[in-house]
Amino acid sequence: MSLFGTNGVRGIANEELTAEMALDLGRVIATLKPGKIAVACDTRLSSQMFKCAVLSGIMSAGSTAIDLGVAPTPALQFYSKNNKIAGVIVTASHNPREYNGIKFVQENGAEFFREMDEESERVYMSKTFRRAKWSEVGSLLRDDCIEPYISAIVDSVTLERKYRVVVDCGNGAGCFTTPEILKRLDCEVYGINCNPDGRFPAREPEPVDRSLTLLKKAVVDFNADLGVAHDGDADRAVFVNEKGEFVSEDAMLALMAKHYVEKNGGGVVVTPVSSSRCVEDAVKSAGGKVVYTAVGSPVVAKVMIEKKAVFGGEGNGGLIFPEHLLARDGGMSVAKVLQLIDESGKKLSELISEIPRYYMIKGKIECKEREKVLKELRRNFPEANHVDGARIDFEDGWLLIRPSGTEPIARIYAEGKTRERAEELYSEGLKALKQILGG
Ligand code: MG
Repeated sequence: MSLFGTNGVRGIANEELTAEMALDLGRVIATLKPGKIAVACDTRLSSQMFKCAVLSGIMSAGSTAIDLGVAPTPALQFYSKNNKIAGVIVTASHNPREYNGIKFVQENGAEFFREMDEESERVYMSKTFRRAKWSEVGSLLRDDCIEPYISAIVDSVTLERKYRVVVDCGNGAGCFTTPEILKRLDCEVYGINCNPDGRFPAREPEPVDRSLTLLKKAVVDFNADLGVAHDGDADRAVFVNEKGEFVSEDAMLALMAKHYVEKNGGGVVVTPVSSSRCVEDAVKSAGGKVVYTAVGSPVVAKVMIEKKAVFGGEGNGGLIFPEHLLARDGGMSVAKVLQLIDESGKKLSELISEIPRYYMIKGKIECKEREKVLKELRRNFPEANHVDGARIDFEDGWLLIRPSGTEPIARIYAEGKTRERAEELYSEGLKALKQILGG
């Protein structure tokens, strides 16, 4: 695998990812999934260029291209699911301004799984595309995926009380959905960076604690119940509590997972091996079970289908509500968090205080011998979870050693009840990895 990463094809626009590549990728999906194919894009400056190339590639292969305009990734995915047609989203998600990306979506709304990306890459590399005869070139239709997406979310949530919410869309695609969702849920909405702008003048597209100063301040100044921020394509949502404090994504994942397990009287929650132990603790306390996957949202969705999971998600603000869509959904996350606050009668800070706290340390070192490391990890830690590197769980923490599949590095994650324990586990991991690489 070289072209397709964990989330489709990504790169700096017009350098690593070009219009020619986008055209061929349009031809690839129309070769693999002929018929009607929906395409949407985020607000990036290069997104319309790539979207037009993808549409053109689809038509050249004899399929009907449906232009959905600018929309969040989950809105395109929901459209794909409802219409049972494949889709393409042009977005670089949380990556910096100069990047863009192209990701394929299945007819069930889930992202392409790894083996599907591999098949796409084979067609792309071998250039074995369909090419339609002049009289059979596909047509171009336009449609809207925003309204059905907003309606479905609003219909799935009932709030007894009125809430004041500050929303920071980061000038991304969430501008078209989340403020409207909140208004229809009868919230009092204050918007920050809610005008689409592909230059991302206010903050980087990734919603991280350090870049949400304005949101945190606004929540306090407006005496709001909640603050929420999205990444560039609004499949992720991160939250600020009523005190203006950033809520860790892992704690939010644990809170929502626990809520879903309680509501379902048990069930499976799916999350990558890199997720905090607080998720497993919360899920177990509610009578549920955690199933760990490799890192990456497509495989989380895939395992959720296999295990009939009640909930899933990643520790980066990507939450998956399977009854709605088998993909991360920032707009639905906001609605469901409000629903939980409403049902519990508690403030977000109170709900989060019930989630166990851990300290996590992450690091990486150079590693060009992925296969050797994986083999040695299996030999040295036979009792570990080897779904992606080796995750070794202890009573009071865990350690994950994970050689990257795309870069010449290995990542080490360590988590403990105390910072000291996390540091201790981290040094153990580093020592074990260095021994493998040196020996
Ligand atoms: Mg995203």
